[in-house]
Amino acid sequence: MSLSQDLVQSIIRQDILLNDLSDQELAEFCQQANAAYRDGNPIISDQDYDFIYLAELNKRLPQHPLLHSVEPEGQGFSDEKVLLPEIMLSTDKAYSWAEIGKWIERVEKACIEIGIDITTLSIKATPKLDGFAGYDDGQHLYTRGDGKKGSDITRVFDRGLQVFNLSDRGQGAGEIVVKKSYFEQYLSSDFEYPRNFQASLIKEKSLDEKAQQAINDQAALFVPFAQLPVWQGSIVELTKNFENIVTEVLSLVDFDVDGVVFELTDPTIKQHMGANRKFHRWQIAFKENKDKAQVRVLGVMPQVGRTGKITPVAELEPTQLSGATIVRATGHHYGLVKDQGLGVGSIIELTRSGLVIPKINKVLKPAPVQIPDQCPSCGELLTWESDFLMCLNHVNCPAQVIGKMEYFFKILANNDGFGIATIKKLYDHDIRKISQIYTLNQSDFINMGFGDKTSANLITQLQRSTTEQIEDWRFLAAFGVNRMGTGNCENLLRSYTIKDIFTLEKTQIADIDGFAELTAALIVDGLANIREEFGRLFHYQFNLELTQLSINANSVLHELSGKKIVFTGKMQGSREVMKKNAKNLGIQIASSVTGKTDYLVVGDKVGQKKIQAAEKFGLTILSEQDYLAMIGE
Ligand SMILES: [Zn+2]
Repeated sequence: MSLSQDLVQSIIRQDILLNDLSDQELAEFCQQANAAYRDGNPIISDQDYDFIYLAELNKRLPQHPLLHSVEPEGQGFSDEKVLLPEIMLSTDKAYSWAEIGKWIERVEKACIEIGIDITTLSIKATPKLDGFAGYDDGQHLYTRGDGKKGSDITRVFDRGLQVFNLSDRGQGAGEIVVKKSYFEQYLSSDFEYPRNFQASLIKEKSLDEKAQQAINDQAALFVPFAQLPVWQGSIVELTKNFENIVTEVLSLVDFDVDGVVFELTDPTIKQHMGANRKFHRWQIAFKENKDKAQVRVLGVMPQVGRTGKITPVAELEPTQLSGATIVRATGHHYGLVKDQGLGVGSIIELTRSGLVIPKINKVLKPAPVQIPDQCPSCGELLTWESDFLMCLNHVNCPAQVIGKMEYFFKILANNDGFGIATIKKLYDHDIRKISQIYTLNQSDFINMGFGDKTSANLITQLQRSTTEQIEDWRFLAAFGVNRMGTGNCENLLRSYTIKDIFTLEKTQIADIDGFAELTAALIVDGLANIREEFGRLFHYQFNLELTQLSINANSVLHELSGKKIVFTGKMQGSREVMKKNAKNLGIQIASSVTGKTDYLVVGDKVGQKKIQAAEKFGLTILSEQDYLAMIGE
């Protein structure tokens, strides 16, 4: 059976949803999409293929051959298939830390079986290239084919393709890839996906001019896996630092990367774990790709946040996403409900990126909606402010009062015990303000129904929160004033002391770099609202570490004072210490290079993007040593 072109197009445009496809149609669509991908002319993105269609196929027809073998390439190469020098398997995939954890358990079990101490094992992590797989034996280059037999595509080397790092031929498995920055700049208008371009390099028919140029520019390359930059460490380090390691490895190369490959290096354990028909058991890829699903909405509940914003919380048909069962998801604002039809029975597209909370992407099939007219917490009539539905009863709305108190302790982050359950219980006993909490003694807590031990702990935690030193900007941010997140608070306190900020005029704030006039006005109003409560709490002698004033404190300004600097790459010294020292000199630290940046300070393993941006804006690039010399360290 073959699907009509119309039906294929309707599926791609999402006019026809998964639920409307028969199992047979779904399977056929997956096969066509897969063939198109292998052919170098994908009809849908890899993400949609993996996460929407293949995932659904797995749910309905788990035995389908598409899910169980390394697929043949399909058309495109008329050459006879030749036996590969070495079997090329694909890589097992994990979409969550939990799945990586299961792999580590299997490694642990294997270690016990052959008497190796798992803590001595080294793990190697490399970027997972999203290119065209090949095997280079030094004489010939082969496609991966079905993993056992591939096609000879040595012609691509005859066309001048270079090996990454200008290294030698014959390094085995790798991928043909194109530099991301180059693709965006020179090729993206002619080729829809890098994949289409990569395939065009290999095809028998004569080479496209742009493709030849990309080869000549050494932007298209063969990258043997052995040449990839690596992170290497122990399983303990991996466990402790998983997210940071993933972020670091993903940024190591200027090629399209769709995950991180983790593998063992010890030959004994590798041999013991071996392989199955599809992949090596000593290797796993963590894919950070956005996981997507089409999900039916069972109900929509309004939820009131601490600022009075009402957000829609959708109850969902339970759905597996990135290795977790999702039963509810939050929409950004109520405009989504009103404009897109997020109602009972609607079908939404849900995304989840790695470890982040799932998000409602868009409504695919609308249903009649219900817009609440009253606040579910206090009954106040709700008000629209552009896309946002708001409860303006900021002083007495229980959900907002509770939310603000919870937020205070969360931002302070130097005590335990004041989570939402505790705060709700305090609210039930007429506690409305943080300053009231600090006047409570142990018997007050006991009288509210907390246990003896819990009450003692709450007192200890309150004391701890006033004795442990915290930055003054963090303390200020904990009050949750609109536009006064930690970044703005720190910026403000670099110009004025915490005692002075309540007397500031709007213009004084707007004069500080980084504050727009509207923001300044909101801050003045917000500060006026918290002034009394701030005064009461300030009295409890929190141990505040004062932010150094950038201008008034140093009568002689450092030459870099007021300059905007971006640090990038791996530094010899601690990045945190460098940032702190820079701030003390009045240097502004930014995270991305823009036209307003003055200097880019580079360490090792720097991403090409930042360097290119720096060159584009003509700013000065300093090495870590040059920079340290400039600030006199
Ligand atoms: Zn309310």
